[in-house]
Amino acid sequence: MPCLNHNIGEFNSHRGAIIMFRCPFCGAMARTRTSRRLSDHTIRQYHQCQNLECSESFTTLNAFERRVSSRDAPATLPPAAGD
Ligand SMILES: [Zn+2]
Repeated sequence: MPCLNHNIGEFNSHRGAIIMFRCPFCGAMARTRTSRRLSDHTIRQYHQCQNLECSESFTTLNAFERRVSSRDAPATLPPAAGD
């Protein structure tokens, strides 16, 4: 049986966890050039398209959206104290 690890290598992202944004104008990958903090929970990122025939620059917003997990989620709610 051939080693399957070679086939999934290109999908393995642990070496470079950077997700590149795609150019909204031509669809090519865009390089993140810099970023600017707008607030405690919002960052504006500046990107440049890697397609030399496009080379558009654009910005994206990276903002807090929602909490994914809760550390103190109550397993069961106690009955209402009706005393
Ligand atoms: Zn482009």
